[in-house]
This record gives sequence, C-alpha cells and structure tokens, in this order.
Amino acid sequence: MNLKDTIRTIPDFPKPGIMFRDITTLMTNRRGFSEAVIRLSAPYQDAFVDNVVGIEARGFVFGAAVAYELNSGFVPVRKKGKLPFDTYEQDYELEYGTDVLEMHADAIRKGEKILLIDDLIATGGTAEAAIKVLRKAGAVVIGAAFVIDLPDLGGRKKIEDMGVPVTTLVAFDGH
Ligand code: AMP
Repeated sequence: MNLKDTIRTIPDFPKPGIMFRDITTLMTNRRGFSEAVIRLSAPYQDAFVDNVVGIEARGFVFGAAVAYELNSGFVPVRKKGKLPFDTYEQDYELEYGTDVLEMHADAIRKGEKILLIDDLIATGGTAEAAIKVLRKAGAVVIGAAFVIDLPDLGGRKKIEDMGVPVTTLVAFDGH
C-alpha cells in the first residue's frame, strides 16, 4: 500500500506557510499503521535493540509499537517538567526561542543499544537533542527511524553527521 496516501496535509497549521503532515489519518488506518510499524522495525529485527526511545508525543505511538515488534523495552523522551524522577536534559533551538527534552536518568544503562523513533524529521533539531540526551546516559544510538522525512529541511544529514544511521518511510517536498 502507499503509506503516503494515508497522511493528511493541513496547509497553514499551526501557522501560515507550514504544511502540517497529519499522521493521525495513518494511525487510524489499520493497514497503514501496521505497515508503518513493520517497516520501521524491519531493519532492526536482528539488532538486539535494548530499548526503543520515542519522542513526545507522536513518537510514543510508533515507538511503543516498534518496541513490541522488536521485543525491546520502551523509554519516553519528554518535554521538560513531565517526568517525575531525576533526569538528563538537553535544550534545543526552536524557530522562536528554545525548548528542553528530558529522559529519566536511570532509564538506560551505559552501553545499551537504542533505536530512536519519531513521526517526522524536519530540521532534525528535536532528534539531535534526543541523541544528545541519550549519549549523556552512555547509550549507543544504533539508528533513528521516522515515518516522514521533509528532505528539504536537512534533518537526515544532521543526524547522519552525528554518526547515527537514519531510515524514513515517506518523503514530502517543502516545509
Ligand atoms: P524538527 O526538530 O525540525 O526535525 O521537527 C520535528 C518535530 O516537529 C517532530 O516531532 C514533528 O512532529 C514536528 N513537525 C515539524 N514539522 C512538521 C510538519 N510539517 N508537520 C507535522 N509535524 C511537524
């Protein structure tokens, strides 16, 4: 099936000029959801991933399903202030200002093999911050997988330049 056809585009959301790629229409399509999870997991079936890490919030949906598929654990990376225990944190640039990602300090042991999952990679700033958090914990990030790539924004290269292989399932031109 063509996964791209299951993703809805909302022009000018959340602000003028942004083409918002709405993945909820893929999630509610049962063949689309299961195909996306299988294709995200497939390259890592024999990789002995210790934990899949999902980025809040849509990365939780795909990340948890991929973790189940790979028989690995799941660890959430969240926006600052949501996790109750001690955390590692990393700030990152937004278009206006900065934000902070956090992960529980005891979630991952040094040397664990991690697969990072999110719904979409645009500039790569969010995934870069997540990888930095993971490296603070001593994790080995063996890959990052996204349903959607916006190649014009250069995120894949940013992440590959950090030494992390990237897989994506569909691509859209533009922002
Ligand atoms: P970035 O840090 O620039 O790679 O942005 C990635 C994050 O922002 C992901 O968590 C996406 O969910 C969200 N995002 C960025 N651009 C879009 C877009 N055009 N449509 C939907 N989500 C987006």
